[in-house]
Amino acid sequence: MCPGIITVQNVHKSYGRTKAVNALSFTVREAECFGLLGPNGAGKTTMMKMVYGKAERDAKPEGLIHVSGFDPQHNPLNVRHLLGVVPQDDNLDGELNVYQNLALFAKFYGLTGKAAKKAIEPLIETMELVDKRHSKIRELSGGMKRRLIIARALLNAPKILILDEPTTGLDPQVRHMIWDKLRQMKKNGITMLLTTHYMEEAFQLCDNLIIMHKGEKIIEGPPRQLLQQSMEKYVLDIINKDHVDKIQACLDSPSIRADLSKETLHVYSDNIEALNEISALLEPGDYFLRFSNLEDLFIKATGRALDDAG
Ligand code: ADP
Repeated sequence: MCPGIITVQNVHKSYGRTKAVNALSFTVREAECFGLLGPNGAGKTTMMKMVYGKAERDAKPEGLIHVSGFDPQHNPLNVRHLLGVVPQDDNLDGELNVYQNLALFAKFYGLTGKAAKKAIEPLIETMELVDKRHSKIRELSGGMKRRLIIARALLNAPKILILDEPTTGLDPQVRHMIWDKLRQMKKNGITMLLTTHYMEEAFQLCDNLIIMHKGEKIIEGPPRQLLQQSMEKYVLDIINKDHVDKIQACLDSPSIRADLSKETLHVYSDNIEALNEISALLEPGDYFLRFSNLEDLFIKATGRALDDAG
């Protein structure tokens, strides 16, 4: 018996000589939001595609993917009926209006006429698109299009929602609104598999996540627990490095980890006093002292260099 609604065990996927996914295993429990994080090229989309049956895993070494007991490779239709997919691109039909876009998809699920209306109307309401029902796609804002795509993915009342960077390119207000909608869905028992570039999004939505790098799992767990276990509690961001020589001696302390990015010196520690002592040597305005966050953990796990990001 598989313990989760999605089980992935020792999955490999190569494109020619590129190892997109390398010996990946994870389990998604029912009604949780599970995040796949990682820099560009880490293998997140490829992993998602294997879950919803759009890409085949390598035959050797032999791996396993089960979605509610079905193998997406052998039972693609069974899996597709369980899933709603929110792809990265806005692939709505520009010639049709909001309602017609949903009606077209409803037809794929065998819903027409009154049955289609019964499925579509509550989704238009939930996604706050009532006033836009007859609007053409080009008349919608980016946030409205996203909400329509999410509504479309929910037409077949899926048990699992696949979300590939659901809020990329949206402004913060819209992003927060979509997070609220996704939280509601989770409360309604929908399981979510999410990729995102926004660490705040992962922190807000995910019950569990993995950080991937070059196809491999680097770290796995609930975000708060990962932060507690794998990250220093505080960060001193020194934004003006002109005076860094003044603090050089303090950086040698074993309770301190320093990490230099292009413009900023990040000094991590669990010892707030040590960071206060360093900041006292600097000019006000040259630094910020803050709690560490998932973005700091992400950088610790995957490195800072852009060429590391494939
Ligand atoms: P991510 O979603 O984390 O950005 P991807 O899964 O898109 O990563 O890509 C992982 C790796 O696989 C990258 O090196 C990418 O270039 C490669 N890749 C993805 N899809 C294809 C494809 N269809 N053909 C060849 N290479 C691919």
